[in-house]
Amino acid sequence: MSAIANANLPDAHGHFGPFGGRYVPETLMHPLMELEAEYFGTQHDAEFQRELSYYLKEFVGRPTPLYFAERLTRELGGAKIYLKREDLLHTGAHKINNAMGQILLAKRMAKTRIIAETGAGQHGVATATVAAMFGLKCVIYMGAVDCERQALNVYRMKMLGAEVVPVHAGQKTLKEAVNEAMRDWVTNVRSTHYILGTAYGAHPYPVMVRNFQRIIGDEARAQILEQEKRLPDLLIACVGGGSNSIGLFYPFLEDASVRMVGVEAGGEGILPEKHAARFQGGSLGVLQGTRSYILQDEHGQIQSTYSVSAGLDYAAVGPEHAWLHDQKRVEYSYATDDVALAAFQKLARLEGIIPALESSHAVAEAIRCVPKMSKDQIVIVNISGRGDKDVAQVAARIKL
Ligand SMILES: *Cc1c(COP(=O)(O)O)cnc(C)c1O
Repeated sequence: MSAIANANLPDAHGHFGPFGGRYVPETLMHPLMELEAEYFGTQHDAEFQRELSYYLKEFVGRPTPLYFAERLTRELGGAKIYLKREDLLHTGAHKINNAMGQILLAKRMAKTRIIAETGAGQHGVATATVAAMFGLKCVIYMGAVDCERQALNVYRMKMLGAEVVPVHAGQKTLKEAVNEAMRDWVTNVRSTHYILGTAYGAHPYPVMVRNFQRIIGDEARAQILEQEKRLPDLLIACVGGGSNSIGLFYPFLEDASVRMVGVEAGGEGILPEKHAARFQGGSLGVLQGTRSYILQDEHGQIQSTYSVSAGLDYAAVGPEHAWLHDQKRVEYSYATDDVALAAFQKLARLEGIIPALESSHAVAEAIRCVPKMSKDQIVIVNISGRGDKDVAQVAARIKL
């Protein structure tokens, strides 16, 4: 394990070592450069930062607690477990941290229309929420299969005044929804800002989304220093595109004593098209604007993926994670559907917290490794969202 000075990355072109960059058609170069200039302009703009802090506190519900999970800790008999409670945020997941940041940016750029892609619907709901709040028109692209699987979230978006466009191409899931959103953006770029939902895509999205999500780690760091007077030994978070995990990890990257584990979706096991664990058999490639680890066949065709958790079900991973993986700064493991479902139940019954199926993957990793740790060690697990959206899916698999 090496501590690296990652605070300097990405470089000016959005590269994290060999990963990242901007692989888009010519027509998207100008909007991305405009976005980059505006975004970096806000970083030292006191008025923008003041406005963002205000809405994060008064509307989104920050800071979230760092909660000592006493009964889970006792049950596992190892390290002390703290839960970072992103599930308590308005709309139920960490996605709104980024959606709020980007809508303020869109307002600053005088955009009148917002588009976004969504998989499970959490990012769509977060985006529809902030668009309603500021009175901007909102269109959400969602795979037709996901629309069926996540009918509740489709309804929520519509209630918030968004138009939801089902995408019928290909696998009819997240990847196709991203393609449609990019197509829309090219056509309507003068009026429209594209709120991408994870630390993925062409520069500046991965760095921008990370910076909007790093508040998770900034808070957790201050909270654990306050409560335990020292840094944690281990951080655990689930990895879809990679935003909640990089948000937690980033402020600790230069603390060599802090181990970090990102947990991917193991689905039905590590067999072709049965999982979404990019670090288990993924290889270097370009997908949707960036260079990273991708699940693809020998001809470079993107493989289908599978997970019980729609939010982790994507063939590529954010470029910063690819870099941190290759640097061996962050370790990546996976949890299968069954193991994640068992963790889901355990957290509900021991702590009175129903986690999202995505977050249950992180809880599963804690259940696996905490018993091997000593009682004076400290673990922080990111509970990226709440499980209300997953109730129907869990009910179909578990008899109570
Ligand atoms: C979308 C989502 C994820 C996965 O996305 P990341 O960008 O990897 O964080 C994880 N947890 C929840 C609750 C989500 O809604």
